[in-house]
Amino acid sequence: MTARLILSRGREKSLLRRHPWVFSGAISRVEGNAISGETVDVCDHKGSWLAKAAWSPQSQIRARVWSWQADETIDIAFFEQKIRKAGQWRQWLAKADSLDSYRLIAGESDGLPGVTIDKFSDYLVVQLLSAGAEYQRPAIITALQNCFPECSIYDRSDVSVRKKEGLPLSHGLISGQQPPALLPISEHGMKLLVDIKAGHKTGYYLDQRDSRFALRRYSENARVLNCFSYTGGFAVSALMGGCQEVISVDTSEAALDIARQNVELNQLPLSKAQFIRDDVFKLLRTYRDTGEKFDVIVMDPPKFVENKNQLAGACRGYKDINMLAMQLLNPGGILLTFSCSGLMTVDLFQKVVADAALDAGKNVQFVDQLRQAADHPVISSYPEGLYLKGFVCYVE
Ligand code: SAH
Repeated sequence: MTARLILSRGREKSLLRRHPWVFSGAISRVEGNAISGETVDVCDHKGSWLAKAAWSPQSQIRARVWSWQADETIDIAFFEQKIRKAGQWRQWLAKADSLDSYRLIAGESDGLPGVTIDKFSDYLVVQLLSAGAEYQRPAIITALQNCFPECSIYDRSDVSVRKKEGLPLSHGLISGQQPPALLPISEHGMKLLVDIKAGHKTGYYLDQRDSRFALRRYSENARVLNCFSYTGGFAVSALMGGCQEVISVDTSEAALDIARQNVELNQLPLSKAQFIRDDVFKLLRTYRDTGEKFDVIVMDPPKFVENKNQLAGACRGYKDINMLAMQLLNPGGILLTFSCSGLMTVDLFQKVVADAALDAGKNVQFVDQLRQAADHPVISSYPEGLYLKGFVCYVE
């Protein structure tokens, strides 16, 4: 018998709007037994059926919905159908934009909570983040193999959020060939090397693809500062756009090594590219004190906010680096600034950047708005799926 989660009165509202999470506080009682990750039925306080969900006994998000159809079975065919549907849109995108790499499954936004799958050329990199996703691992992998028989599959479920689900970290080849140390992928006419085994996240920040491309139009003859550069995608794009010089800053030497190789791989002049291993917060102050100036600055920091309690502190951090960046720009300079913290809404981020302009004593115009690329969609029932936003600012 499938176990049933009975919600408290009134707590079915978010599920009726098809939001896929059930928080622990919404559950009145559990009827029957379920092991971690197993599929359970979610019912309202009267016992009426609402959804099929994966049971996460150790997480505050106690269940994540797989299906809104009572007669649907959560099996290989279910995952295959979701993957094919998501793949159709990505294949169109890949063709239209000449990409060989994209996010194939973006978790909740593709109807598969806790499942991230990135395709890098012929490698599928899988990240299973929830108890339900882990429980369904064999079905998900078989479904992927059925959909992409030519691809190797690599596990990068070595992320700390798994601990909240009571899951150990896991990492390694699942099927096919071991990935090379650095795999070249194509992005808007650039070749970029991806470290599938040890890179950040699944190896590369696919979500910033279109913003890297957006930088190109502002780069001609510019002196560019690329803050939080990782493997230098923005730097390669600036060089392709004809910049005079680009300085990339990151704390990771491994990432900067790859960034250097990426410049060479695209046959761009290394003489115009500098790579500095340093703390951006510190270096911005040094540059301010020594009077360095730039025409374009990219500010793409890591996530500052994990929960609501950290939001105020994060706003101060964002304001600080954006203020410093504005002060380092020549008159008429361009700032491309981003926040990948989901709790930071677009409106709040715009306000933080506006506050930074006030503190910097600069007139700023918002001339363009950027966001995660189209292979990281936002499903209407889960607006939290919009996590990465950015502004192009013209700084007088
Ligand atoms: N712009 C990159 C992605 C940036 S991810 C791209 O287009 O691919 C954030 C990066 O910030 C990581 O590479 C991380 O190593 C780096 N980082 C984190 N804290 C930092 C700090 N205080 N100073 C400099 N780099 C930092």
